[in-house]
Amino acid sequence: MKDSFGREINYLRVSLTDRCNLRCVYCMPMHGLTFVPNPELLSADELEKVVRAAVEVGFKKIRLTGGEPTLRQDVVEIVERFHRIDGIEQVVMTTNGYRLPYIAKDLVRAGLKRVNIHVDSLNKDTVSKIMRLGTFDKAWAGIEAAEKAGLTPIKLNAVITRGYNDDAAIEMSRLTLTKPWQIRFIELMPFGGPTEIQLDHYVSSDETKGRIERELGPLFEVNGGDLDGEARVYRLAGAEGTIGFISPISNPYCDGCNRLRLTADGRMRLCLLSDKEINFRDTLRNGGTHQDLVALFQRAIRAKPVGHQLKNGVFAANRTMSQIGG
Ligand code: SAM
Ligand code: SF4
Repeated sequence: MKDSFGREINYLRVSLTDRCNLRCVYCMPMHGLTFVPNPELLSADELEKVVRAAVEVGFKKIRLTGGEPTLRQDVVEIVERFHRIDGIEQVVMTTNGYRLPYIAKDLVRAGLKRVNIHVDSLNKDTVSKIMRLGTFDKAWAGIEAAEKAGLTPIKLNAVITRGYNDDAAIEMSRLTLTKPWQIRFIELMPFGGPTEIQLDHYVSSDETKGRIERELGPLFEVNGGDLDGEARVYRLAGAEGTIGFISPISNPYCDGCNRLRLTADGRMRLCLLSDKEINFRDTLRNGGTHQDLVALFQRAIRAKPVGHQLKNGVFAANRTMSQIGG
């Protein structure tokens, strides 16, 4: 189904939990966050109902996210339920990878196609500083487990954050010379009553690209400069893999946005960077039918904003990134 601005909306991101085993500096505070109590999270049954309604309005791709989606005990079952729904072409996941050594094979058996794994540096000290409870070795074990299980092509996500991992892009980009992976650098975004880090440690994609090119040589456009999902993709000469830039601040991709986001507590978020949401959980828990959910999706798609309003100083304030899922 098309929204009011002619965009085909067919990609649903589903947050399974707002909890996480890490505390990345730009995403979650170390202390003081309260989490949604388990009974208020959508159950696997409720999630399946939402996705069955989504299919009816044309959704084809589902991405599981969090918080950290692999912390949900029933994550394998949820993948399997979504994979079995006629009309869903791809179930994929965004994860920090820490639990993949234990569950990657089960996820593949259940129908998961690919994972985007988040690691902000290849340097152990830097990872500990920026991902706080994270360690590089655990992230790397997750990446290896994903590759071994066939969750390919591997995509790695890093958020470049001034003063924390400024140089990470060089070493991570070097990996693409020998690995058939896509390494993506994401611009820092402000959320949840923006924090000092989000506002003051932002680095533009142009700056990151310049840094990579000065060290490793020119980057050549892939796809003639067109977007691959939300990333503009490049390749170093002779490289096996590619390098993507996700630039929501310096070069927004709102014109091509094809997604809605379901939060773990059952709200449909209409734009990552806007507080507009529609409550699906109340409909689910007050005896709503399949057709009621389809109608809610139609309403959500029609109400999707044209784009974010950061340049006009309008910030998303009601949730942190961990409560939305990226
Ligand atoms: N825990 C999983 C992970 O880290 O991939 C899934 C959820 S996490 C919120 C999804 C993505 O959002 C990660 O790639 C993370 O780096 C990114 N992210 C978190 N906070 C961000 C922020 N303030 N600006 C830009 N990206 C952010
Ligand atoms: Fe957790 Fe992902 Fe947020 Fe890091 S970015 S704190 S891994 S949800």
